[in-house]
Amino acid sequence: MTTLADPVPGGRPGDVERATALCGELSARGVHGVVLACTDTAGITRVKTVPTAKLASAAAWGVGMSPVFDTFLADDSHVATDVLGSPDGDLRLYPDLDRLTVLAAQPGWAWAPVDRITQEGEPHPGCARTALRRTVADAAARHGLAFRAAVEVEWMLGRGDAPGGAFVPVAPGPAYGAVRQVELSDWAAELLAALAAQGVDVEQLHPEYAAGQFEVSVGALDPVAAADRSLLVRQTVRAVARRHGLRVSFAPAVGAEGVGNGGHLHLSAWRDGRNLHAGGDGRYGMTAEAESFVAGVLAHLPALTAVTAPSPASRLRLRPSQWAGVFTAWGRETREAALRVVTGTVGVRERAANLEIKPVDLAANPYLALTCAIAAGLDGIASSAPLPGEITGDPARLDPAAAAALGVRRLPESLAESVEAFRADPVVRGALGPVLADAVVAVRRGEIAAAEGLDDERLAAAYRWVY
Ligand code: GLU
Ligand code: MG
Repeated sequence: MTTLADPVPGGRPGDVERATALCGELSARGVHGVVLACTDTAGITRVKTVPTAKLASAAAWGVGMSPVFDTFLADDSHVATDVLGSPDGDLRLYPDLDRLTVLAAQPGWAWAPVDRITQEGEPHPGCARTALRRTVADAAARHGLAFRAAVEVEWMLGRGDAPGGAFVPVAPGPAYGAVRQVELSDWAAELLAALAAQGVDVEQLHPEYAAGQFEVSVGALDPVAAADRSLLVRQTVRAVARRHGLRVSFAPAVGAEGVGNGGHLHLSAWRDGRNLHAGGDGRYGMTAEAESFVAGVLAHLPALTAVTAPSPASRLRLRPSQWAGVFTAWGRETREAALRVVTGTVGVRERAANLEIKPVDLAANPYLALTCAIAAGLDGIASSAPLPGEITGDPARLDPAAAAALGVRRLPESLAESVEAFRADPVVRGALGPVLADAVVAVRRGEIAAAEGLDDERLAAAYRWVY
């Protein structure tokens, strides 16, 4: 489980002693530096690094970083809100020592995610990881609920020597094809070895639909740990690829056409150690609370897309009939509805049943996405929201009258519409608190302005290599 306590100046209890001991162990293993990773509002993971010898000092006093990154855009320009985006001030990054991981594919380096506090020792209201820790702690304290989550990671593997930022797929081969698996055998084996060495429990690694596309799915953890792990997995995928002269794109789309890269969220709610998505009297074994949880997520989906599919390039992926889930609907094991109710197989349902949220890509800050998704589900539970009827097949094939009767609507088709839905949704917006919510709106509007006038090809190119 993740430490839910905020960092404090001087260090969380026991952290300095622990960091001192870790410093010795890491040095003995040839680790020279620690990467401190943090994902910004635009979904870019930004880092500072410290020499291993400074780990204890980082655990005690944090490492400085400007708050301006909260309102950075993906192209490294920045916008501002009333509170954030000023060139003034400094924040302290505190590594979560529970997550400190020696990077198997980056010899000499370890890695840890961070929480951010102010120089006055207050939690920083723009810190997404803190927002998720709070949400998880609150749900436990107020509702007796815990969650398990996992982020699927899809990416396109390109040649590292392609000219001018072009994407040239490595090992095109058929979808899910053995050709691609054989052609990338060494790379894939090295990736599995690196993830295993880092304690990442991999469920599957497979060639995905598009040319050069792969996916890794990993075991579920508490939500903060799941978000941390999604950063670590991406760091590792990229590092192994670089060792093979390859380049990785986690962008929602690498080009104007074709399927995109998803970052589907898997989420389940638990009470007293029991999975609410299994063994109940509702549909497919859901308990009444799980049905309402799903209904809550369903109702808030339009607003959620402002944090789950936050890039102007996300709309290149959010197209019907590409398994990206662009309709407000749910179904059991359906690949085209936004929500897929996963029951698991007989024998493992107690552990495996969950809700998959599909209109999520890897431009999303996973801490923000999980914070808002959990808040949406909790809202459903709080209001005992009824879950509408399920759909089967591709909602794109429904005629408009049937779609309307089932409450099936297309999710926002532009980022501007997503932002308006987010602004109009007090539950999703409120989950982030005013400072972070304003940052989301300002950053999305900044991205919309930055991408204005780009045709689809140039839009894909602008965001291809940044996530
Ligand atoms: N690539 C699809 C997406 O963009 C997902 C494919 C799958 O269901 O794994 O979401
Ligand atoms: Mg997939």
